Amino acid sequence: MHIDGNTLILGIIGNPVRHTMSPAIHNFISKKLGKNMVYVPFEVTGDVRTAVKGAFELGIKGMNVTVPYKSDVIDVICDIDDMADRIGAVNTLVRKENGYKGYNTDILGLEREMKDEDINLNGENVVLIGAGGAARAAAFLAAKHNANNLVILNRTLEKAEAIAEDVRKYVSDTGKNTVVKTYALSDYDKIEENSFVAVQCTKIGLKEEDGAAIEDTEFYSKVTAGVDLIYRENTKFQMMVREAGGRVYTGLKMLVYQGIAAYELWNDITVDDETIEGVMEIVNGR
Ligand code: NAP
Repeated sequence: MHIDGNTLILGIIGNPVRHTMSPAIHNFISKKLGKNMVYVPFEVTGDVRTAVKGAFELGIKGMNVTVPYKSDVIDVICDIDDMADRIGAVNTLVRKENGYKGYNTDILGLEREMKDEDINLNGENVVLIGAGGAARAAAFLAAKHNANNLVILNRTLEKAEAIAEDVRKYVSDTGKNTVVKTYALSDYDKIEENSFVAVQCTKIGLKEEDGAAIEDTEFYSKVTAGVDLIYRENTKFQMMVREAGGRVYTGLKMLVYQGIAAYELWNDITVDDETIEGVMEIVNGR
């Protein structure tokens, strides 16, 4: 990589952040497209608001934001995309004249993965397992595409209810038809829908020895397609969906596509298919 006085800086802020695949993804794209840019991790242990203001003053072109700062950065941005505002989480900062504008490319990444895999949520029933930040993006995506029933299951019911309330407001503001319901995770057998797309949004499955949030074959017999936001292959969730005859996808494409969407926003370009293929190969090799 050639670095000189004109090299633009992109980065990711979070804590921890050194394990992230994002530098490999973005530096590959810059090299492939011949852009004089470098992407680096910034592990922020102090005040993230000061860090974002400092980044702007230093001329940093754009940044990704990861755990635990996706909501905190909203306090110090000059503008926010409507969907990111509704989701309440920003994972991409795009430089504007007076500060950074915040976007949520997790929802764009999941949307593009679903399009790629031919999962059409329009009129479908969707069950989300989990109600953290990633589930928020998945919930708004289901409503955006006019899912029929959206069911949110979570160990902590209040968190599922909080997402449901925000999504119901979006549904009513935008004239969608999605009906949003919530249950405690342990009450999964109360779901009335007999066929649904399941999106696994908990952290369970990150480690090889993990089980699944739900381990009942009856539940999996109703899953037509299972999208696990965990990047790893063959989690227990994925295996149970597959054994019950459903289609299975990992979170790897979502990861790649959220990165592609951020790169496109920073540079106001469309990344070509060959470059995306190259990124897929990099993350698959990890
Ligand atoms: P988060 O905000 O911390 O939420 C974690 C979720 O996992 C919560 O619903 C939590 O339930 C649940 N959970 C954790 N441990 C549990 C347990 N032992 N039993 C039952 N539920 C449990 O995390 P997040 O940011 O939403 O991320 C969730 C997962 O998605 C992570 O593994 C992350 O790697 C992945 N992700 C992938 C992508 C991608 O591009 N593929 C993007 C974003 C995130 P409670 O609310 O009850 O604690």
